[in-house]
Amino acid sequence: MVQVTELSYMGIGVKNPDEWKNFAARTIGMELAEGEERDRCYFRMDYWHHRIVLHTDDSDDLMYLGFRVAGPEEFREMQKQLSSAEIQFRVGSNAEAVERHVLEVLKLNDPDGNPIEIFHGPQVQYSTPFHPGRRMHGRFKTGAGGLGHCIIREKDVPAAIRFYNALGMRGGVEYKFQMGKQVVTPVFMHCNERDHSVAFGIGGVKKRINHLMIEVDNLDDVGLTYDLVRKHNLPIRITPGKHSNDHMFSFYVGNPSGWMWEYGWGARPATHQSEYYVEDMYGHEFEPGAFD
Ligand code: FE
Repeated sequence: MVQVTELSYMGIGVKNPDEWKNFAARTIGMELAEGEERDRCYFRMDYWHHRIVLHTDDSDDLMYLGFRVAGPEEFREMQKQLSSAEIQFRVGSNAEAVERHVLEVLKLNDPDGNPIEIFHGPQVQYSTPFHPGRRMHGRFKTGAGGLGHCIIREKDVPAAIRFYNALGMRGGVEYKFQMGKQVVTPVFMHCNERDHSVAFGIGGVKKRINHLMIEVDNLDDVGLTYDLVRKHNLPIRITPGKHSNDHMFSFYVGNPSGWMWEYGWGARPATHQSEYYVEDMYGHEFEPGAFD
């Protein structure tokens, strides 16, 4: 079975690009790439051309997720795999691949209608080292784990598990916890050393996306970023703490579109045998706006 190897990039629609540029560069530390286009701008976290695309758009929500396969052979094999799972897709045109700075791209939707792209061959710019948008102690931890992870909306959880299984991901329930009157059992899917690249099943999510997690390789960057979030008067939505599943030490900030970015350090590699937890190791208290 062919597997996607990482969640590589994300496109988001933003109402207020100027506020977002400040947030991504001056608060978070991403690099605003040169050569801005009229309707979008690109943010870098490493040698790649980009990891995040901001599209000027009223949605203030997720626009697409990009999952990588290793190369052209896997790209063709994935098409057969999707067909046999009766998942509809189309092969993107050359212009669409150029638009994403990749060699080839497939376009499809997951069961909740989240636009998914499967590609191979990202443009990597070794002549242009990453230059953070503000001082950093260390670097963003991408590498084999990709961009990071996200929690997205999936109304039909079993259908979503079948879909992400068809992409070669594996996983299942990792928490059973009380949220209000309900017991919530979120599902976490992985395809590499990260505990999860995509998760869903928290319910009651108004937007397509609840949060994006990005990881750094130095704990001091979590502290520095926390201070900048406070200084820039941005809302802390989940207080600093450590997750039981990925062991990430992190906090969550409300971004200018109202959903969250999680800023983390120190995750353990994905476990390959299932476990579940009823609470986090410590911290991570929900503030208003964490899960509406
Ligand atoms: Fe997370």
